[in-house]
Formats: sequence, C-alpha cells, structure tokens
Amino acid sequence: MQPTTQNFELLGKQVIPGETKTIELNIATLHTMTELKVPIIVSRSIYEGPTVLLTAGLHGDELTGIEIVRQIIRRGINYPNCGTIICIPLVNVFGFVNQARDFPDGRDLNRIFPGSANGSLASRFAYRIMQDVVPVVDYVIDFHAGGRGRFNVPQIRIEPNNKVLDVLAQAFATHFILYSNNIDGSFREACDKLGKKYLLFEAGKALDINNEVIEEGIQGTIRFLDKLNMLNSNFTAKQPEKKMVVIEHSTWIRAQYSGMLHNFIHNGAFVKAGTQLGKITDPYGLIEEAIVAPNDGYIICENQAAIVFQGDAVYHISTKLEND
Ligand SMILES: [Zn+2]
Repeated sequence: MQPTTQNFELLGKQVIPGETKTIELNIATLHTMTELKVPIIVSRSIYEGPTVLLTAGLHGDELTGIEIVRQIIRRGINYPNCGTIICIPLVNVFGFVNQARDFPDGRDLNRIFPGSANGSLASRFAYRIMQDVVPVVDYVIDFHAGGRGRFNVPQIRIEPNNKVLDVLAQAFATHFILYSNNIDGSFREACDKLGKKYLLFEAGKALDINNEVIEEGIQGTIRFLDKLNMLNSNFTAKQPEKKMVVIEHSTWIRAQYSGMLHNFIHNGAFVKAGTQLGKITDPYGLIEEAIVAPNDGYIICENQAAIVFQGDAVYHISTKLEND
C-alpha cells in the first residue's frame, strides 16, 4: 500500500490522512430559526485507496439502515485500511423527527434526485448531496427498508447487465440479489449517471429495528470493504451463512379483497406454485380468501400489516432465477 499524498476536502473542510472528522452539512433553517444540520463522519486512512459512502435514512422512517450505519461507526468498522469511508447514518433528518418517509414538504427525497438549486426543499437538499458529497466518492451503499409494514428479506438490488455491480453485490453476499431497474429521480439513478458504483440494500420494514437483518447488513458491508482491501485488521470477513440466490425477475402478489391478513409462510422461503401463503378474512366469518403462490419462487417480502386493502402488495415473489 502507498501512503496517500492526496488532499481530501468535503464542504470546504480538509481531512488529513489518518484523521476522522465529523463535518456538518447545513441544509436549512426552519421557521423556528433552528438550523438543521446533517452530520457526515469521514474517516481517512494514511494509505491511498478508494472512497466509499454509506448512506441511510433517505426515507426518515427506515430505521434499519440508520442502525446499520450507526453500528458500523460504533464498532469502528469505518476506520479504513486504505482510502476513505464516509458515513451519513441519517440523510433525511426531517423525516426521522416526524417518523415519516418523506420530507416535510411532502416530497419523497428518493424520487427527486439530482435535485435543483432553486427547487423545492427536498430538491435543494438532493442537489446539495449531489454537488457536495457524491463527486468525491467511488462507491455507495445506500441502506433502505420496506415501507408500510412490508418486510424485505435482506437483498441487494442492482441494475441488470452490469458486470462491475455483479462483482460488488457478490462480494456483499447477502442471501438475495435482485435485478431491478433504476427508478427515475432516485439517488441510485443519479449516482449511476455520475459513474458511481452503487448498491441498494433493502432489509426489514419501516419504523422497526430487527437485529437479524441489521447484522446481515453489517456483515455484508464488512465483506464489501474486504473485497476493496479497505477492511481494517480488527475485523475479519465471515463467509455468508446462506447460499446466494440471484433473482432476475420478480412480481408482487396483491390483495384481491380488503380485510384482515393472516400470513402462513416463512418470509424468505422457497414455495411451489399453488402453496397457500396466507388468507384474507372479514370480521363476520363470511369471507376467508386464500392467497396462493402463482409460480414456484422465493418470497422476498411479506406484508406484515394486520389489515390490507384490495390491491395492496402482499407478497413479493421471484419469477425467474439466474440459470433457471
Ligand atoms: Zn427507502
């Protein structure tokens, strides 16, 4: 490894080799005249290497990711063997305060990238992230959770037909890799357009802290850093417990009726076509509607809401696996 001779500057602040520094991104002044700041924790090695950005809480109610990045900092995994690790455990401070997905202007931050200098509050914020933070990074892992009761089995989502992302997702090695196209206005799309290598980690559900999926996110990040030779010597990358499954296509099974939802199936299980996954009932004993698997596949998300409405997404099932 080569000692670094590069300058590193973020938001006008220098971080010298071997230093860890918290830099605040000043995003807005509220109508209470309170200044809102997003802390960004930057750790530099004395050795040359890439820069990795770990982000969570773009959706303010997705606590799983926030806890993953918090533990990465707390355990000292963010001190790199080489290069630089930047952690933003909570991007959408507004949403976190309100325990809500969106910005207080009602916008979904993850649909408004790359933002604009004179746009809405969320749009301006997205713009600052893209202007001030993303240009200095090479890799991004962005941690998310399922919304409205939908519990995602830990999965990395990447665009299909991208060999570099395939290798990185395989290095992270969570149980499922799901090919999905970039969504317009997402952070993922904006990073991709700048040539940043971006992994989307989806696990658990909003307003929930689940230790099992949090540990999977942490161990995946450790394996990812190890692949880049950035993992510091206090940690060892462990082999994943479960064999990786690559899902090329998937679909949602939706509720045919409104009613109370009863889940029968283990989230993450492989099911055969025709297997009963759950049922929807009314309060009066009149309706008891079975929900069955339309095809063989893995259940990668289950709606854990007690009451669902007609058309709600209930189960996310794979429809085509790699090498099928
Ligand atoms: Zn999210």
